[in-house]
Amino acid sequence: MILSFLGTGSGVPSTKRNVSAIALSFRKTGKWWLFDCGEGTQHQLLKSPLKISQLEKIFITHLHGDHIFGLLGLLASRSLSARVETRIDVYGPPGLFDYVQAVQAVSPMHIGYPLFFHTIEPGMILDTDEVTVTCAPVQHRVPAFAYAIEEKPISGALQVEKAKELGIPPGPLFGALKRGETVVLEDGRTIEGNTLVGPMQAGRKVVVSGDTMPCEALQQLAHDADVLIHESTYAHVHLELAVRSGHSTARQAAEIAKAAKAKQLILTHISPRYDDPEGEWTALQVLEEARQTFPNTELAHDFWQYEVKRPRGILDRDDPNGGTA
Ligand SMILES: [Zn+2]
Ligand SMILES: [Zn+2]
Repeated sequence: MILSFLGTGSGVPSTKRNVSAIALSFRKTGKWWLFDCGEGTQHQLLKSPLKISQLEKIFITHLHGDHIFGLLGLLASRSLSARVETRIDVYGPPGLFDYVQAVQAVSPMHIGYPLFFHTIEPGMILDTDEVTVTCAPVQHRVPAFAYAIEEKPISGALQVEKAKELGIPPGPLFGALKRGETVVLEDGRTIEGNTLVGPMQAGRKVVVSGDTMPCEALQQLAHDADVLIHESTYAHVHLELAVRSGHSTARQAAEIAKAAKAKQLILTHISPRYDDPEGEWTALQVLEEARQTFPNTELAHDFWQYEVKRPRGILDRDDPNGGTA
């Protein structure tokens, strides 16, 4: 799983940060999902390694313009320029479909692929063979939701050392053994995969906050998350602005990550006021503020990629040659 930050600013785009958009890519399938689609997201995509043809699902946290003004352009371009015919599912709060229909009524666009809209309610909204997506209402000026993406448990780690002792060459055979298959070696020996595979492993969990003030629902949704992506529009010195606009400060984001026992916090949705490195308060200070409460914090920037790793030593099922990614 790889997170790609396409827009990490709040409210308005700046030369440093575009407005909100985060991609989550799945290495096994090559598909990716998009969380929010601020204006200009399709331009950001063109500058990233992500292929619009591989986009599968879009999740919208709330209906503020800095999270949705890029949606219709992106959907239209996927049809016009990429000429893709695979379906897209869009999940979002009540009103999203009305917004799309209202625009369509005066500015019709041709969509050449199946497009489905799903109005979300709190709880599990998606359950596939490999992941679930759950959403929870958060606290903002309009109805807003956070999303938790959780992998289902996967088969255990291959005992690599034991496999090597048995003379099994690393490579595709490792992948087959990990899947529990029986393999026949060149010397005729038969090895059963389940004798070399450990217990089931928990999947990874990523939580995307969207815009929110600190809230209990998000803390619960983020419990034990491998990665919590939390908005951090302001430094705590600007708490009053955060309260007035329904946002969080870096310190508050860190407090939520700590209370939720998340493993990694990533700050995003940074106010343009911190873009000036000569300014009174800088984005780096926002990051330092969060680290004082939750040391395992990073500050996202546009085009930054972050790999959500499995615990060390576990063979990644996505990787036929093994590895620990
Ligand atoms: Zn926003
Ligand atoms: Zn907002």
